[in-house]
Amino acid sequence: MQHPINILERYWKFTSFKPLQEDIINSVLKGEDTFALLPTGGGKSICFQIPALAKDGICIVISPLVALMKNQVQALQDKGIKAMALTSGISYSQLDTMLDNCIYGNYKFLYLSPERLQQDIVQERIRQMNVNLIAIDEAHCISQWGNDFRPSYKNIVKLREIQPTVNVIALTASATPEVVDDIIKELDFISPKCFKQSFVRSNLAYMVFHEEDKYYKLEAILKKNPAPSIIYVRNRRATLEISSFLESKGYSSIYYHGGLSHAEKDNALESWMQNRKQIMVATNAFGMGIDKPDVKTVIHLNLPESMESYFQEAGRAGRNGNKAFAVILKNNSDELLVKNQFLKVLPSVSFIKTIYRKLSSYFQVSYGEGVDNVFDFNFNTFCKTYKFNTILAYNALLLLDRTSVISLSKQFNQRTLVHFIVSNTALFSYLETHKDSNTIVKSILRTYGGIFEQETKINTNLIADKASVKEEAVFAVLHQLEKAEIITLKNSKTDAQITYLEPREDDKTINRISTIIKQQNTLKEKQVLSILNYINNDDLCKSIQLLSYFGEQDIDACGICSVCIQRKGSKTVDSKVIKQSIIKALENGDLSSRSLLEQLDYSENQINNTIKELLELRIISITKTNTYKLAHI
Ligand code: ADP
Ligand code: MG
Repeated sequence: MQHPINILERYWKFTSFKPLQEDIINSVLKGEDTFALLPTGGGKSICFQIPALAKDGICIVISPLVALMKNQVQALQDKGIKAMALTSGISYSQLDTMLDNCIYGNYKFLYLSPERLQQDIVQERIRQMNVNLIAIDEAHCISQWGNDFRPSYKNIVKLREIQPTVNVIALTASATPEVVDDIIKELDFISPKCFKQSFVRSNLAYMVFHEEDKYYKLEAILKKNPAPSIIYVRNRRATLEISSFLESKGYSSIYYHGGLSHAEKDNALESWMQNRKQIMVATNAFGMGIDKPDVKTVIHLNLPESMESYFQEAGRAGRNGNKAFAVILKNNSDELLVKNQFLKVLPSVSFIKTIYRKLSSYFQVSYGEGVDNVFDFNFNTFCKTYKFNTILAYNALLLLDRTSVISLSKQFNQRTLVHFIVSNTALFSYLETHKDSNTIVKSILRTYGGIFEQETKINTNLIADKASVKEEAVFAVLHQLEKAEIITLKNSKTDAQITYLEPREDDKTINRISTIIKQQNTLKEKQVLSILNYINNDDLCKSIQLLSYFGEQDIDACGICSVCIQRKGSKTVDSKVIKQSIIKALENGDLSSRSLLEQLDYSENQINNTIKELLELRIISITKTNTYKLAHI
């Protein structure tokens, strides 16, 4: 058997393990049921991939999201390792062949969604495979107390029956003590070996500032820290607004949200990753898998939705170990906003029934039918058709996805339909005068045989590849051809695909999941409350607050968060000294509290408190324009 470190070097070209990786790998190799709790970016994948490579046989990986599976399979294939994923939209005969390959074809990794485990053919073939390890990625999905509960994760225990002697590794980045217990119970772990890396990030200063004028504070932070930054905002529109605001103030900034096309996303991401843009303004759609080491500040202009997501988002700062800041800016209206944003939009059981029924009529699925049908979906058109509130409708769809009634894959697709409406001769005489279109047109003709006879859906990305040009160039040529009346061109945008996983049974379907819906709504309320506690508790070190949420105890105060700093400040600086500095500053003219803050090297709280004292002592007074002046002048 190859030694783990050699495998790491050979396939990953890394020279050493990250914390706990080696211990976890050894535990897995010994055949133990193993629980790995490492933060995001902690390198969990390697913890099951290396043991699987070290042994004969195939590793079964359960993963909740198609996108995650595809990424990992691609990464393995790039290393020359045989891996495959059973995603949705695979025909029965394809599935049959793929599963056979796992038995006879020397495959090392089989990724599948938990829903797949319900299929008889999948169970039967896994029984025949030489399975060396079962890995449950994002294992918190199994717990109803977790952020991303997926009831289908409960199918996993079936694997235990099918392969009773194979050990299991569960991996997650986010687990409260309740969730950890749940995972261990649900996966039927016997004396599990648990490896938990502390979530302490000693270089990361958690800050919460109360600030009515958030833009002002935002600029102040960015001015002090001219380094890569992520700013999280509430919605797509705000990403654009804030980014333009910052650009207008001379910062280099770009924005990112789920509604951008692939090309736009790639472009935004790349220019930020390569430091051509300093600031990334984004919705929470941004960040999964982002591993930029030198992020100095992560600033939330609006409140995050849960402690789980906050820890993840904040944790993108300071990966390189240098001092970094995770800041939440709050003001008086935030509590109400957060309640409106997250609690008022929780879909009730009856709303979900409505959505499901409308969805089925929208796709014309008849009662009892629909299983495995895949539909292109334009979310906005759907909401407009039935006058649904978009957020509520979206949350309802997410719940239907999580409960495996449907599978929703967020995919921005440009469907391009082309029909050549002139004769061959007319086309070639056109090309005579438009030589630059030649390659692209020929690539289209060669790829799509019947395109003269009928309207044909073309893959512009593929054509771009074949013609060795960018996709935009393909569109440009298509538009030209349309203008010249050589082709008809239809572009339709879909932003998602929906697959029916269960036959349509209207209310019956939803009644089966009604308990889960209610329970998830309660969980959401709890999560919002814990965020409100976090931003409002100014007595306990922020780091301790966060970590104790995740079950860590006996942690020292960090000394660098907004609570610790204020405490230190009030202890070490004599209030007399602050008073004198303020008086001295005001001798040169009236100043606002903001200007005082800029001129003097004290914290906002210290300045505000001292101003209050000086006002009470009537040493200073406030002017009509909200500046302060010395009383005796
Ligand atoms: P997680 O699933 O814990 O979020 P991943 O498995 O996706 O983390 O790994 C995060 C990143 O860390 C990847 O880019 C991976 O290649 C890298 N990585 C993993 N192990 C090591 C290591 N021992 N040395 C250097 N980089 C590593
Ligand atoms: Mg992972």
